Parts: sequence; C-alpha cells; structure tokens
Amino acid sequence: MSLRIVVCVKYVPDATGDRHFADDLTVDRDDVDGLLSELDEYAVEQALQIADEADDAEITVLTVGPEDAKDALRKALSMGADKAIHVEDDDLHGTDVIGTSLVLAKAVEKAGYDLVITGMASTDGTMGVLPAILAERLGVPQVTLLSEVKVEDGKVTGRRDGDSASEQLEASLPALVSVTDQSGEARYPSFKGIMAAKKKPVESWDLSDLDLDAEEVGLEGAYTVVESAAQRPARTAGTVVKDEGEGGKQLAEFLAGQKFI
Ligand SMILES: Cc1cc2nc3c(=O)[nH]c(=O)nc-3n(C[C@H](O)[C@H](O)[C@H](O)COP(=O)(O)OP(=O)(O)OC[C@H]3O[C@@H](n4cnc5c(N)ncnc54)[C@H](O)[C@@H]3O)c2cc1C
Repeated sequence: MSLRIVVCVKYVPDATGDRHFADDLTVDRDDVDGLLSELDEYAVEQALQIADEADDAEITVLTVGPEDAKDALRKALSMGADKAIHVEDDDLHGTDVIGTSLVLAKAVEKAGYDLVITGMASTDGTMGVLPAILAERLGVPQVTLLSEVKVEDGKVTGRRDGDSASEQLEASLPALVSVTDQSGEARYPSFKGIMAAKKKPVESWDLSDLDLDAEEVGLEGAYTVVESAAQRPARTAGTVVKDEGEGGKQLAEFLAGQKFI
C-alpha cells in the first residue's frame, strides 16, 4: 500500500519586506510579498527522500493561508511533491496557532495520512509549537526536531541533536515528525519540475469542507489577542568613541552608562 505523506507548509510574509499591522492588529498580508517558509523546504526535502526510498509513496503538501498561499504550494510541487491542498476561507482571518492546528488536523484527517511532516518553526510566527499541537489533535506520536529521518517497516525513526547528546527516536506509523534545518539541503526546483508542477492537482477546501464553524477559528475563536502594537522607533545614530589616548576609558564609561557593565 502506498505510503501517504502530508507535508504542512506555510506561506509567510517575506522577512526582508517592510511589514505592517492592519487596523485590527493582524499582519497586513496585502502589503508585503510572501513565499514558502524556508524552514518548510526542509520538510518537503525529507518527504521527497523518504518517498524515493519507499516502494510506493504519495506526497501531499498542505497549507492554510490566503489566496496567494498557492505560490508556496506550487514551489513545493515544483520540488517534486505530487499534489496539494489549499485551505482558504475569509473566516480564517486572525486565526491563531490553536485555530490553525484545528484546521490542519481536520484537513490532514480528510486527506488521509501515514506520516505528517512539518518544519521546525515558521519564519514569521516562529512559535515552533504547531507540530506538537497538531500531533495531539490527531492522537498520533510526535517525534519533533529531527535532523535525520527514515521510514522502515511501519515505523519512523530519526535523530534529534541536542546541546549535549544526540537521541535516536522511533515511533510507529501513523505519526508526525518535524525536521530541522540540519536535516539536509533542500533541492532547487528544476525547470522540468517547474513545468510539471503546473499540471499537478491543487484542491481548495474551505471551512465547510472540513465541518468547521467560523466561530471556532478567526479572531473570534482565537485564544490570543494582540492588544496593541507600535512601530519600532527609527534607529538613532551610534556613538563614535575616538581614541586619543582615553578611548578605553571612554568606552567603559559608555558601556557603564548603558548598564552593559
Ligand atoms: C489567513 C490567516 C490569518 C492569520 N492571522 C493570524 C493572526 O491574526 N494572529 C495569529 O496569531 N495568527 C494568525 N494566523 C496563524 C499564524 O499565521 C500561524 O499559522 C499559526 O499561528 C502557527 O504559528 P507559527 O507560524 O508560529 O507556527 P510554528 O509552530 O512556528 O510552525 C511550525 C510548522 O507548522 C507548520 N505550519 C504553521 N502554520 C501553518 C499553516 N498556516 N499552514 C500549513 N502549515 C503550517 C509548518 O510546517 C511550520 O514549519 C493566521 C493564519 C492565516 C492562514
């Protein structure tokens, strides 16, 4: 039977762009270009390597995001994933991590899976907590922060590198793993891959397809609220210490004045 891999990928605002808050204190996504979260490219890469080793495997990439999030799916398809699912609904506006994990859990269940792969964190929210919440909602083992991952004999195994030790971990399928940026360079899409991606299926689901009500997600369903936000103050010119014999002393005085020493 085919190994069904679902890779969760996030479409994130370009970190090099100038980001702003909208009036309701959510991120103004219309204001900035987006892209596939770089850390999720590692998740796609690991899925492709696992599929290469398997007799038969199918990789579905899944995103919850606005209309433009299709760009992130296309990139993952051009890397080699087989098909994509885009969950999009106006009522998702303002959904926090609890709501996002609920939507992803429903979508993963509807898609069908043996293995869910996520990145270690998104490059915008960077909470790194979604994989654990998603595994809990699915009721499957979670093996997080892997720098090496393999699937064999109905089990997923992997290595988690900590500061003082490396752990070898194992879980029976179905399971969820998250992979780190140490798991192996993500491939660039080839020209052939980019052309092939145009013909790969992308399904669009909304909340009703997932039997979810608007009140369970969006700002209304969010457990976290941004109460205020202010523009970061403009950078001021630095202090130049000119060494005319007293440079060291002046430097120490400056650092003491800033309470660094
Ligand atoms: C239209 C829309 C509006 C939103 N508005 C808000 C808001 O106003 N306030 C707020 O707090 N949050 C909002 N979110 C949710 C937020 O952007 C994050 O998706 C969510 O909070 C997860 O947090 P994180 O990015 O820190 O996840 P992390 O835990 O850092 O992510 C880890 C991994 O989970 C997976 N993942 C995370 N998010 C997604 C996703 N959306 N789709 C697929 N895989 C994913 C990726 O594999 C990622 O590498 C919104 C989301 C959408 C789609």
